[in-house]
Amino acid sequence: MARIFCIANQKGGVGKTTTTVNLAAGLARIGQRVLVVDLDPQGNATMGSGVDKRSLALTVYDVLLESASIAEARQRSEKAGYDVLGANRELAGAEVELVELERRDKRLKGALAAVEAEYDFVLVDCPPSLSLLTLNGLCAAHGVVVPMQCEYFALEGLSDLVNTIKQVHANLNPDLQIIGLLRVMFDPRITLQQQVSEQLKAHFGDKVFDSVIPRNVRLAEAPSYGLPGVVFDPSSRGAQAFVEFAGEMVRRIESMR
Ligand code: ADP
Ligand code: MG
Repeated sequence: MARIFCIANQKGGVGKTTTTVNLAAGLARIGQRVLVVDLDPQGNATMGSGVDKRSLALTVYDVLLESASIAEARQRSEKAGYDVLGANRELAGAEVELVELERRDKRLKGALAAVEAEYDFVLVDCPPSLSLLTLNGLCAAHGVVVPMQCEYFALEGLSDLVNTIKQVHANLNPDLQIIGLLRVMFDPRITLQQQVSEQLKAHFGDKVFDSVIPRNVRLAEAPSYGLPGVVFDPSSRGAQAFVEFAGEMVRRIESMR
């Protein structure tokens, strides 16, 4: 059965999508069967996996509204090595449409049940908000991976996310836990980043992943080629860090079973 993880942080531009597609590609490289679910109307995870969001007849929007199954709507990205349940601008409407419907926060969970056996990992790329879309991700997931930049305000934003996760855990999804915090876009030459990194470890201990993702321009260039950095330039420092992180994820999940 697949282990399902949200990549979440309500801040935009912190590296959620980069983490999702590169962790997916890293896991695929070590033989894991992976599905990426794009829950952001911007569709960056879709495009960054080599799937053209404009040409999709069915997306996660149709799945949430239960007019299509995941088996019908998913795409295979041969280049990236995993499957993608894509998103595009249409998804922005789902937020409003779902409010009226029953089980509005459990739609993704229900849909994933039908394909769970086909995957080892499902990675859900969340939008930069604690919205009904994110809630669908959190209700479906076994855990949350939180990418964060080691900057001053990063710690402040984290408490909102941690509280939301605690509430979902208490009221909606007892399986949910924080798997770990991933330091991304890290530049060890910047003293503040080192300090925040130390604070994170002091406060969250083992919840901070050992792997650190450096700031690396190849990771930023890869999406314009429709590829995760891990596939675009496997020898780059960024790609190597994500492959290492994929290994750490597998070990961490095994130790939690
Ligand atoms: P989010 O999904 O949280 O909005 P993204 O993953 O889209 O964040 O990242 C925001 C921007 O930062 C993108 O332009 C991305 O290419 C760039 N980026 C992300 N991680 C790195 C990194 N480790 N090194 C360099 N650029 C990065
Ligand atoms: Mg994103």
